[in-house]
Amino acid sequence: MTYQELVQKIVDLQNDGLELFNAGKSVLGKNLLGTHLGSYEGNQIVIQGCIHAREYITTLLMIEQVKYLHSQGLNVSGGIYFLFMTDPDGVEIVLDGINSAPCEITKQYLILGNNNSTNFSQYKANINQVDLNTNFDADWGQGTQNVFCPNSENFCGFYPESEREVQGLVNFTLKNRPLLTISYHSKGEVIYYGFQGESAENLERDRQIGTRLSEETGYQLILTENSTGGYKDWCIRKLQIPAYTIEVGRSELPHPIGIEYLPEIFEQNRYVPELALGLANEYASQIKSAKIVNINTKERKIKNDSYARSGFNGAKSFQNRRSTSWSSNHQK
Ligand SMILES: [Zn+2]
Repeated sequence: MTYQELVQKIVDLQNDGLELFNAGKSVLGKNLLGTHLGSYEGNQIVIQGCIHAREYITTLLMIEQVKYLHSQGLNVSGGIYFLFMTDPDGVEIVLDGINSAPCEITKQYLILGNNNSTNFSQYKANINQVDLNTNFDADWGQGTQNVFCPNSENFCGFYPESEREVQGLVNFTLKNRPLLTISYHSKGEVIYYGFQGESAENLERDRQIGTRLSEETGYQLILTENSTGGYKDWCIRKLQIPAYTIEVGRSELPHPIGIEYLPEIFEQNRYVPELALGLANEYASQIKSAKIVNINTKERKIKNDSYARSGFNGAKSFQNRRSTSWSSNHQK
């Protein structure tokens, strides 16, 4: 599969009547494509995947989830934002090889950070060699595996939210105020919950919701330790909402997880989006952002409508729109 073939699978969702939007842009200017299912009224959740380049199986999983939900219809109130691929530049390098780099200097830069290897099948970072899931402003730089120089993995960037993809995801999340987020990664068949500094009350709430997700998928629920700067961590720290990292694919499988394992992974995760939205509704009174989301419903619907009309290729200003209540903390 080439990068273009993978992107085409997302674009083809429009043939089923789904609308795509951009949650932002990558460093190289690629669209961070997403779609929305359900209603813009009521509670919202965000499901994002492929923030690590080699984990594009999660993009394929989310496409299957969207197709399934779109054909069945959502039986829960509220809506779900799917963001299919947070690191498209990195995925292109993994799928099409290092010769797809935009220029010779970038190519040599990437090879240097990849242990001087031209094999990029195990590559995790973005085109700047930043590990996007360590670049968020949540105890940034304090992870035990963080490195501070460009690398194929674990480089947290020169400062938090330095990367365009991370800025896009942050702005999108602040704009749409989900009550819960799920980040799909591979591999290991585990679910991570919680973040250091979280209140005991919120941690117990997150454990309860996580237990339900664990029962549905059969994946083990694990409390996060020694990891910082991830999207999940940021959601918990800044928004105080329940947020989860779900690692799909058996631990013994090599990266990248082969497409032949997609049916197995989809069966384990088929009902996760609807379940997660149902849990967000069930626990809404215990989630601080719930009230804020409801207050902004009318404003958000208007913006989403104008957004849909402009078409996903023309909607460039999305990442520049910021929630007023959070803008002072997040302007960088
Ligand atoms: Zn990952």
